[in-house]
Amino acid sequence: MIWLLFGAPGSGKGTQSKLITSSFGFNHLSTGDMFRKHLKEETELGKKAKSYMDKGSLVPDDLVIEMVNSELKTGETVILDGFPRTLEQGKALTALVEKKGIKTGGVIYLDVPEADLTSRLSGRRVCKSCGAVSHVEFSPTKAEGVCDVCGSEVEQRKDDQLDVIKHRLSVYNDQTKPLMSYYEEKGLLKRVEGTGDSKKVFDKVKEILQ
Ligand code: AMP
Repeated sequence: MIWLLFGAPGSGKGTQSKLITSSFGFNHLSTGDMFRKHLKEETELGKKAKSYMDKGSLVPDDLVIEMVNSELKTGETVILDGFPRTLEQGKALTALVEKKGIKTGGVIYLDVPEADLTSRLSGRRVCKSCGAVSHVEFSPTKAEGVCDVCGSEVEQRKDDQLDVIKHRLSVYNDQTKPLMSYYEEKGLLKRVEGTGDSKKVFDKVKEILQ
């Protein structure tokens, strides 16, 4: 079975995915994380994706769909985080799960006002080594610039800079948001108020998953 986590950049999809994974033991498939891994390892796919990611644009649908197709296995429960992001990807996913005989549990939409998204993203820091996420204002590391988990340096993602954030949010509004009505019509969309404490948001997510 698959569950989709849907929402704007900065709506907390990554945080909720981690909470779901540790509570329910589901697999976590984040297309953003997969692309960042390809980038780091300088694979062919990473090289193709880099210019889109740096600008905060979407990687072309065929590359994303192919990557998800090779990762999505029958017989597992998977949280899909950051995919689909266009109507075309949504339709391709519907065809893919039908072909593989995978059920869709639902689409959890983390609803966060746009004003909050920018401050969440611009203050986000990620550990260079273990990937732990902190925030300069909302969840600062104990020592400035040093990861609480492993002691390595934290950094700002290139695409969390203000000008790129603006572009990512407009891409979300133009290309990703139309997917909401696609899933609403299928009766799969479950809206969750995504503001406030992540544990409280998770309580609402849990109710849907249980
Ligand atoms: P994320 O970490 O989910 O915000 O993704 C980071 C970047 O990876 C995005 O800004 C896109 O450039 C790329 N990306 C991730 N998922 C997708 C997707 N489903 N379709 C196209 N591009 C994606």
